[in-house]
Amino acid sequence: MFVIEPVGKKWPYGMNRAPLGTPFIYLPQWSGPQLAPAVQDENGDFDYLTPDMPGFEAAHAFGCVRFTLDVWENYLGQPLEWHFGERFEKLEISILPHWDNAQYGYGFLEIGSQFEPDGRVLPFTLDFDVIAHEVGHAIIYSVLGVPRADAEFPEYEGFQEAFSDCVSLIAAMHFPSVIDQVLEETRGNLYLSNRIARFSEFPGQRQIRTANNTRTMDEFADGFKNEHDLSEPLTGAIFDILADIFHESLLERGLISPEVEELAEMVEFGGAESAELQDAFDRAYADDSGGFVEALVDARDVVGVYLTETLFGLDPDFLDYGDVAETMLAVDGRETGGRFAGIIGRNFERRGIGILHAGPRFEAKRRDRLPSRRTVQPRDRLRLPRMSYRESYMLLRNP
Ligand SMILES: [Zn+2]
Repeated sequence: MFVIEPVGKKWPYGMNRAPLGTPFIYLPQWSGPQLAPAVQDENGDFDYLTPDMPGFEAAHAFGCVRFTLDVWENYLGQPLEWHFGERFEKLEISILPHWDNAQYGYGFLEIGSQFEPDGRVLPFTLDFDVIAHEVGHAIIYSVLGVPRADAEFPEYEGFQEAFSDCVSLIAAMHFPSVIDQVLEETRGNLYLSNRIARFSEFPGQRQIRTANNTRTMDEFADGFKNEHDLSEPLTGAIFDILADIFHESLLERGLISPEVEELAEMVEFGGAESAELQDAFDRAYADDSGGFVEALVDARDVVGVYLTETLFGLDPDFLDYGDVAETMLAVDGRETGGRFAGIIGRNFERRGIGILHAGPRFEAKRRDRLPSRRTVQPRDRLRLPRMSYRESYMLLRNP
């Protein structure tokens, strides 16, 4: 993979519309002018770059992708093969500062900016969570793939988002500073809103959602507006599984008492006061903070392994959240003889997962169905209407 900072690039990659509205596909690789690339120092390092220097953002973006891949290739047990490998040898990580989003697609990982109401522009190149989330999509495309057009359940899209959020969460938990900060803030009471339960530091960005949420499938039985909302019950269930495995691990290490664990479970779904629980965690953490770190790292790796094995075990055709739950339970049976079956089963069930199925997407307006920006591939060109000579001329002259 490589990073570029194109100069004069008008649109993001993927599906776009020409001046008269005809859709067209825009794929790498960028062949226009670009800013000078970041270069390594004599030791092969980029850490001499400071935020005020050109190339810093490019190096930072590359580092975020590489770090996330390092973490997840370790769980996968093999290097990731790009799903577009037959066409492009390398991933183009492309920086498009005037675009208000980030995306991973056929041959590209494209990174825009957050535009704040007060006029500030916050580049996503500096947002680890956003970039790691996009790498999550890369992992799904590579390992799971996409469903056949006639075999896609709504939850496939929700799964893409939930799994990618988990990729980001687990990757972030590989920074010792994140683990330390989370534990300092919460004293191990993970249900407090904190760094790992909240994605992306930037307020208002559409990828912001909390893993620590209480949404269930009830809300989506009639249908859903967007896949990010639909992802929340699944992300929430996985976050709760992580928290419960962590608490179980604290209990086994004798770091918290069974009463505290019980209280934690009551607080989780609003059945008890949280102040008492926090006091208990504060005391336990003060006694052995190192033990808490080990327990959290263990829980992180259990969830990382289970998610990976679940991904290998799933089929994209007719995938729904119930399959995810079933597969994860089977993984747990295989790995540990069902040690966490109670935790896994309970948390999916509470969300209505495996019981309720998502309804169809509510379409805002029925436009001609186009492949989505992210899933679009070169062969989709054949499905698009031809552009008139006039329109392609306009596109070329004045995009
Ligand atoms: Zn996403």
